[in-house]
Amino acid sequence: MAKKAGSGGKFGRLARALRWSGALFVSSKLPPRDSLLIVNYHRIGNAEEDLFDPGVFSATAEEFDEQIKFLKRNVDVVTLDEALAFVDGTQKDKARRCRVLITFDDGYLDNYELAHPILRSHGVQGVFFLVTSMVGSNRIPWWDKVSYMMKTGRKRRFSLHYPANLEVDVDRIGMAESLRSVLRLYKRPENTDPARFMREAAEAIQGEEPPTTVRRFLNWDEARQMSREGAAIGSHTHSHNLLSHLGPDRQYEELAKSRAILKEQLGVVADTIAYPVGKKDAFTDETKRIAREVGYRAGFSFYGGANLPGQTSPYDVRRFDIGPDLNRLRLELEIFRLTGHVR
Ligand SMILES: [Zn+2]
Repeated sequence: MAKKAGSGGKFGRLARALRWSGALFVSSKLPPRDSLLIVNYHRIGNAEEDLFDPGVFSATAEEFDEQIKFLKRNVDVVTLDEALAFVDGTQKDKARRCRVLITFDDGYLDNYELAHPILRSHGVQGVFFLVTSMVGSNRIPWWDKVSYMMKTGRKRRFSLHYPANLEVDVDRIGMAESLRSVLRLYKRPENTDPARFMREAAEAIQGEEPPTTVRRFLNWDEARQMSREGAAIGSHTHSHNLLSHLGPDRQYEELAKSRAILKEQLGVVADTIAYPVGKKDAFTDETKRIAREVGYRAGFSFYGGANLPGQTSPYDVRRFDIGPDLNRLRLELEIFRLTGHVR
């Protein structure tokens, strides 16, 4: 899961300034920066249509299709193997290129139904990071459960006290911001008892239980088909717990078990792990050490940033979120070309 990109702030001002100054036109004549940019998506579809977390909807199918078309025209969209060769510094082709890798976290059913066919139609490989305990399940992950609870909640004003105090007033700051504040509270490293968090939140919010009769995650047959049709599969752990909340033994189990299950079910060796949530405080140096020990070639974070030659740490490969807007993606790439930075 992740938060949705906003359109204002520093980025919006910079984008407007660039547009007016004509810098976009000038920069498109610059050579590409030698780099690996990794775009991360979660769900494809229409966030308005359900009560689950809108923050994990990255784009509609139409928006996603436009983004892939745009990327194919403007950068080198690479496969996972090509990306890993860049990370390891073992790539044979040393030409300066702006490489872009497309990744998906969580393995929602829409990844199979919408994202995979779109990628296939463009001949582009996607990397899908699966949570092995959720594959094929009707499970409602915590972020979706919190969203459902809040959108059906009888309480519009409530206080939470674990793992820290938080006052929420939905009518004052709106549902989207209220939901983000509650999810931020959940993700705090002090939340070592997620069951307690959910119990207390349910009491305070008085929302409805989400239906558990609908399958929400792609299943093993679908994953096998995707893999046969060219998709790459990685691990997103076994249970999607925040790794920084776990001791070394449980971290080892999350990383090793998911890798073993992927091998058994799909016959593929997962070279990569995407750390759940992926923010700087969602994994630790210990996590990176364990990832290496378990046999992963690379670990992917998700707090923004580009990967540049000689400056890429294999167990903290950077990924970023672009949101649904094609203009934003276009500007993000232009800003990267000019400054060497992405958000
Ligand atoms: Zn995730």
